Amino acid sequence: MHIAIDLPLDEKEYIDRRCPSLECGRHFKVVFDDWRNKVPDERAFCPYCRFEQDPQEWNTPEQQEHIRDDARLANQRDPRHAPVSPRRCGGSSGAKHG
Ligand SMILES: [Zn+2]
Repeated sequence: MHIAIDLPLDEKEYIDRRCPSLECGRHFKVVFDDWRNKVPDERAFCPYCRFEQDPQEWNTPEQQEHIRDDARLANQRDPRHAPVSPRRCGGSSGAKHG
């Protein structure tokens, strides 16, 4: 699984996670490599309540803000590339003049 976003880690390379369940919402830390390598692409689960959700949904509010800022900066730098494209480009590109 590939995570392109640069999130701040603490000195032991733990990443803060927050359970997206409204009933739980607990914060916990995981080793970032574990999160990346052991969590399936589709679902992560909370160690407290076993709530399952898309791995992208486990950001703390601070991290979400950081991601928003990053996305905005990336868009400003390179407006040709959308941050997330739901579909692939057909393949052929390049228009002829004339
Ligand atoms: Zn939970």
